Amino acid sequence: MSGHCSRPVVLCLSGHDPSGGAGLQADIEALIAQGCHAAPAVTALTVQDTVNVTDFRVLDREWVLAQAHAVIADLPVAAVKLGMLGSVEMVETVLEIMQKLPGVPLVCDPVLRAGGGGALGKDEVGYAMRERLFPVSTIATPNLPEARILAELPEGSADECAEKLLPFIRHLLITGGHGDETEVHNRLYSRDGSRYDFSCQRLPGSYHGSGCTLASALSGRLALGEDLASAVKSALDYTWRTLRDAEAPGRGQYIPRRLPLDLA
Ligand code: PLP
Repeated sequence: MSGHCSRPVVLCLSGHDPSGGAGLQADIEALIAQGCHAAPAVTALTVQDTVNVTDFRVLDREWVLAQAHAVIADLPVAAVKLGMLGSVEMVETVLEIMQKLPGVPLVCDPVLRAGGGGALGKDEVGYAMRERLFPVSTIATPNLPEARILAELPEGSADECAEKLLPFIRHLLITGGHGDETEVHNRLYSRDGSRYDFSCQRLPGSYHGSGCTLASALSGRLALGEDLASAVKSALDYTWRTLRDAEAPGRGQYIPRRLPLDLA
């Protein structure tokens, strides 16, 4: 049967991580778990393991445009999720793609560093995201270190970063997993002045792909039609469970378990 799919389609524009912890694999798994269909378009390739990233290569813009246009021409895209873009040119490319998807929710995960700390793009890429992509995004999901880079406030609190960034974007979720508070505080800021603080128990260990998991789950929830605050809560709860159940298959960080074990 053609032209029928009960699961909303989410176009993912993200990098590939061959360790399977982050990037497009995280997107695909998290979206399947929400009951969505992922359409994964590659923006960049990375060389990395569960410890850190050693290299990356951003794809030619023509290749990314061609992938996205093939998806858009064929599938009913209900939301878009952005992960690693890697270059300022890729930021412009995504903007061009979004012009074909007016009104479609856009979740921007401003990826600049791998979980192990290695760079996945210069800070200029973050500034270009802030200036060019934030205005067309529904929400961005930086962790506190990313929010500090984007806000150019190296020591800033989440509140201070939000104040600096909200003129660019309607909603901002600053996650607290990298902070030093006893509990993790994930703070949702909206331009209309509303604020939510979703706190959760801090889990031990460090994780590879937690940000990708969260942003993808959120894009899936928006694709399913959930309202923003409820979609954020569902995505945070889901992500927390994937971290609680995480495993360490390599020498480095834990990888979230995004799918149940009994899928076979
Ligand atoms: N996207 C790609 C392709 C990556 O390789 C990484 C980290 O290694 C990320 C995104 C960000 O990962 P995290 O979700 O741990 O912030």
